Amino acid sequence: MKIFNTLSRRKEGFVPLEPGKVKIYVCGPTVYNLIHIGNARPMIIFDTVRRYFEYKGYQVDFVSNFTDVDDKIIKKAMEEGVSADVISKRYIAECKKDMAGMNVRPATTHPLATEEIGGMIAMIQTLIDKGHAYVAEDGTVYFKVKSFKDYGKLSHKNLDELQSGFREIKVTGEAGKEDPNDFVLWKPKKEGEPYWESPWCQGRPGWHIECSVMAKRYLGDQIDIHAGGEDLIFPHHENEIAQSEAANEKPFATYWMHNGFLNIDNKKMSKSLGNFFTVREIGERYDLQVLRFFMLSAHYRSPLNFSADLMEASKNGLERILTAVERLDGVLEKASGDTLIEGEAEHAASLQALVEKFEGAMDDDFNTADGVSALFEIVKLANTAVTPASSKALAAQVREKIQKLCDCLGIVTERRAEILDEEIEQMIAARQQARKEKNFALADELRGKLSDMGIVLEDTREGVKWKRV
Ligand code: AMP
Ligand code: ZN
Repeated sequence: MKIFNTLSRRKEGFVPLEPGKVKIYVCGPTVYNLIHIGNARPMIIFDTVRRYFEYKGYQVDFVSNFTDVDDKIIKKAMEEGVSADVISKRYIAECKKDMAGMNVRPATTHPLATEEIGGMIAMIQTLIDKGHAYVAEDGTVYFKVKSFKDYGKLSHKNLDELQSGFREIKVTGEAGKEDPNDFVLWKPKKEGEPYWESPWCQGRPGWHIECSVMAKRYLGDQIDIHAGGEDLIFPHHENEIAQSEAANEKPFATYWMHNGFLNIDNKKMSKSLGNFFTVREIGERYDLQVLRFFMLSAHYRSPLNFSADLMEASKNGLERILTAVERLDGVLEKASGDTLIEGEAEHAASLQALVEKFEGAMDDDFNTADGVSALFEIVKLANTAVTPASSKALAAQVREKIQKLCDCLGIVTERRAEILDEEIEQMIAARQQARKEKNFALADELRGKLSDMGIVLEDTREGVKWKRV
């Protein structure tokens, strides 16, 4: 298997630290809002990477954090007049629902920053003891970038370049910083913010330290793959390397993988441009499987443009697979014969060649786009070579391979029950009628049924509104 390593900017053969095992850490979202479809890209991509390693027989330890203390979470909490953990808990729960919809499996461990403060304090202390960090007068702890000679090795920047970039920027509130490149490990609390006790001041951690600490705690000092979106290369991952390697005195991750950005209308997604979709919004229009399939249709390192046309194409593509599976199941029910019949050996050989084509694509830096094409070729083979006259042996082989490859890509082959707008409207009308007749038990039962199907009702002055969640 070959993986493009951001560290070397080359594809490298995959050699695990421990034979048969893979340790993966993926930076997860900051939970202050519903996740958007950009956040969904690394989730789907690295879930597929995990599945492919498992397909190849590896045992995978997959850790992905939730950043549950951060300026944006605190701001939102203040706006709503609740504590920060109310916000983070709410959006972690919502994020998990979206992940389930996209068939992204839960990580082996999903650590929370707020539950790892002790480990962060310990690592910061180690960095201070080893001369890689210092405490400013106000209690802020900074990482001393110049003390780590490899700083810049991931983003391929050198300190002089960085230095000149910073010259223009006046840093306020960071009076105790010795060098503009130094970054915060721990900072003093501000009025109304959550804080923890520490040897330096009451305060909270900087963002970067949590990932170094969680990776160490759940995977060890050295891991195989560290991943995230390409915007994290600098400074986040560069700083993680500095912290982990300075503290542990071992190389941190062997391979650094980064997904390209998801754009809308060839522009960066942004709230101010109004070209911004949450996963939830897409889920109202499509089965989220379609979103997953759309993400897999491009190479993970390329930028990907989100458009209604491409989503329609993905929907149709997925439909072709599901229809072929249903047809195969129909043939299998009636077919007989445990051995191939005349002329079928050739089809079985083509099938095997296509499975190898799929594996070849995935072995080449997880080229899901080519992997999906190979799967379509198998679907075509299923539609042409498997007929009611085929042996059960051939139909079963084709069905089994399609299943295996779909599992590997995280595509669910069972059609999910789709509830139509019409049915929902009918049930709502029946509930209204029941309420009119003061049959509240029936009205509640209907509301409950709708809720089980993921439909939430809202009684407004203009009548009943509903939405899918
Ligand atoms: P954040 O919550 O901003 O830290 O983002 C969580 C993950 O989503 C990170 O791995 C980001 O790199 C990734 N991400 C954010 N926006 C996009 C986007 N438009 N396209 C692809 N990945 C993104
Ligand atoms: Zn991280």
